[in-house]
Amino acid sequence: MIKFKMDASFFVILALISSVFAGKHDIYSRHAVYGVELRDQDDVATLFNLQQKLNVDIWQHGMARVRDAEVMVSPEQSKEFFETLDNNGLKYYLKIEDVSKVLKEHEEDLAKWRRNRSNRMIFQDYPRYAEVNQYMEEIAARYPNLVTLVNAGKSFEGRDIKYLKISTTNFEDPRKPVYFMDAMMHAREWVTTPVTIYSVFRLVENLRDDERDLLEDIDWIILPIVNPDGYEFSHTDDRLWRRTRSVNLEVSTTCFGVDPNRNFDVDFNTLGVSSDPCSQTYPGVAPFSEAETRIIRDIFLKYLPRIQLYNDIHSHGNYVLFGFGNNTLTPNVAQLHHVAAAMGAAMDAVKLPEAGYYLIGNSGLVLYKTSGCGQDYGQHIGVPFSLTMELPGYGYSFRVPPSFIDHINEETWKGIAISARISKIHYRSRVGR
Ligand SMILES: [Zn+2]
Repeated sequence: MIKFKMDASFFVILALISSVFAGKHDIYSRHAVYGVELRDQDDVATLFNLQQKLNVDIWQHGMARVRDAEVMVSPEQSKEFFETLDNNGLKYYLKIEDVSKVLKEHEEDLAKWRRNRSNRMIFQDYPRYAEVNQYMEEIAARYPNLVTLVNAGKSFEGRDIKYLKISTTNFEDPRKPVYFMDAMMHAREWVTTPVTIYSVFRLVENLRDDERDLLEDIDWIILPIVNPDGYEFSHTDDRLWRRTRSVNLEVSTTCFGVDPNRNFDVDFNTLGVSSDPCSQTYPGVAPFSEAETRIIRDIFLKYLPRIQLYNDIHSHGNYVLFGFGNNTLTPNVAQLHHVAAAMGAAMDAVKLPEAGYYLIGNSGLVLYKTSGCGQDYGQHIGVPFSLTMELPGYGYSFRVPPSFIDHINEETWKGIAISARISKIHYRSRVGR
């Protein structure tokens, strides 16, 4: 009798434990990821229409004859997904059989990484929002003559969105260009934030003699987490969350958030968007409906005459992209292409064998047409070089193993450094100094 009681309670406890651990990733149980071969722009359009119709989650858009697309498909979506691809003659293959399983493996990998590296630096991990804030506070306190912490405003859920200003002249020298970089607009793109923190480290704590010019000749605005609500939600509830977490009950009582990178006031709600509030590319009810994009807008407006380059860091795919998302080019496209190509070359020179080469170009022509993105807004209001980076994914999409973070930090810093130097030259000729 006693034995039975013990056994029963043992199983109850076991069930409770497993339900706690099972919960988070089980929403992706039996979701699969397929690689889709793209022959031409018609295939790209077929895939885009499928996304619009079925709400499949496109992990990688792919490029005709260069890179396959990757699409996550739920059990409910799969029948129509296969039918449409078959009817249009598209070839596909299974990449991930059960997404919940690989997400669990990723989480275990991260836990192991943390156990084995108790003295890791903050940028050698995927730090939480509070840890990033703490680092920014500490660095501003330790280097008061160099670093200023700015609280730019609150996210929808009330989290402070903070950035660092790094300057040897307190941002008061108009002969210096401003380099503005941000990350984590899309919540699941975890590897983007470490790159921004590593940039702070290289400029402030670990400045090298041959990079003194980067600190002395340039003022920096570095914003590590644009979308803290989405980012925290991707840690606590849904690893693949991409959007903000705003609630608009008039629009939907079940789907929250909008795609911040479709929410800027440039060609709003025209291309590469879905009117379905549950879609990953839902742009919101109006431009700048989101607190997070309003904060980016206000930084642009505050420092506009001096911002020479805006670098909006995303993951994944190895791209450096520029506007406009509707396939039109800016008058300074030759210079813009030069900056992007120099970044790609600098990063490719140190790339890992398992990574693809960086692809450079107009975002609409290289990838797919979009509207309302941060890159286009920066270009539209007069930032000479407004770029989107897509960092390497090494075949792991959003689940880049932590063992790759050091390399991505180092490699991306090379791209950032060369784009900063080119920015300095162009800024000086622009302002006539
Ligand atoms: Zn993104």
